[in-house]
Amino acid sequence: MKKAVIFIMDGAGDRAIKELGHLTPLEAACTPNLDYMARNGINGLMYTVGPGIIPGSDTSHMSLFGYDPRKCYPGRGPLEALGEGVDLKPGDVAFRVNFATVDDSMRIIDRRAGRIESGTHELARLIDGIEIDGVKIIFKPSVQHRAVLVLRGEDLSDKVSDSDPHHEGVPVRKVVPLDNTPEAKRTAEILNKLMRIAYEKFNKAEINAKRREKGLLPANMILIRGAGMLRQIETIEKKYGIRGAIVSGVAIVRGVGRLLGMDAPKVKGATGDPRTNIDAKIDAVINLLRDHDIVLVNIKAPDVFGHDGNFIGKMKFIEKIDRHLRRLIDYAIENDIYMIVSSDHSTPCSKRDHSSDPVPLAAIGPDVRVDSVEKFGERFAALGGLGTITGMGLFGTILDWIDKAEKFGA
Ligand code: ZN
Ligand code: ZN
Repeated sequence: MKKAVIFIMDGAGDRAIKELGHLTPLEAACTPNLDYMARNGINGLMYTVGPGIIPGSDTSHMSLFGYDPRKCYPGRGPLEALGEGVDLKPGDVAFRVNFATVDDSMRIIDRRAGRIESGTHELARLIDGIEIDGVKIIFKPSVQHRAVLVLRGEDLSDKVSDSDPHHEGVPVRKVVPLDNTPEAKRTAEILNKLMRIAYEKFNKAEINAKRREKGLLPANMILIRGAGMLRQIETIEKKYGIRGAIVSGVAIVRGVGRLLGMDAPKVKGATGDPRTNIDAKIDAVINLLRDHDIVLVNIKAPDVFGHDGNFIGKMKFIEKIDRHLRRLIDYAIENDIYMIVSSDHSTPCSKRDHSSDPVPLAAIGPDVRVDSVEKFGERFAALGGLGTITGMGLFGTILDWIDKAEKFGA
């Protein structure tokens, strides 16, 4: 049976950087293994969601598995909750949460509570499982300052605003209903009560006393955003007849996997940041390839460096990825497995956020055409044999390579 592995360097695409001699981090990096893929395979540029669309990591990964996010995107909250292993039920409303630091007047001092690394489980326990107006609060910490919140109960709505203003030095926003239904009004009220309860309980928590002693910012508030209610979606096995899996340290990316009925195990050492254990992830991929048709692995760190505007860090990390890539390339070649390397979107260091710029891709496999591209990178990929395609277009191409696609027409 033919199989494929998709290797995604999250946010690796970029724009030309003056300090790098007007090259992008991918072009400037020394990447013999990525270049091997480019030289021995087919290349192209990819708009993961579509031209002119700035993808999130979630919408881009949905596209990479052949699902149009414009039709079936459930919102970040449910994806994050699914990714953290919450068994979401129909009617649940899910949110993404930041632990944050506020002063007595609810003004935000730090949206990430000093990038808190430990103790969030202790804080989460203070509100996980409580009931407000007959609604159960499910609250699970994720990595660092992140957490997921699920409201489970009757008459709830996802048509509510965020409490996170996305800025510091301004007050926490009151959650307001976004339509005129009693459900939205009730949901907003519950969330406002929850924030008040969290503030009171967290301020008294021992871990925050310790943090204050050490001169660290206390995590004394939760900022809520990304409300969404889970909708039923056809599994990838039903829709395309394949078994898929995702290896990622990022909850929303694993959440995409679970949403589409794929396996998305939490891999030990996969942290979703530059400390991630790339070898452990490659081990997991090789393991999953035994009983899955397509396995995607996501390495988050390039995106983190992009958001920080750190082009040297981004370039160096791409070189680190490249050193680990050889083992997976050798495995793919030995086992006649198709291998695709690309990115889910660009995160230009100059913009410090995602952009609509297409990402380079290279693919090798038993009978994949070879073009004349010699190196991996944005400007080289533009000359590749695949031309410019979309994420769903790449997925269709992979399905064809592994003999899982059907002919359109007679
Ligand atoms: Zn991403
Ligand atoms: Zn990002």
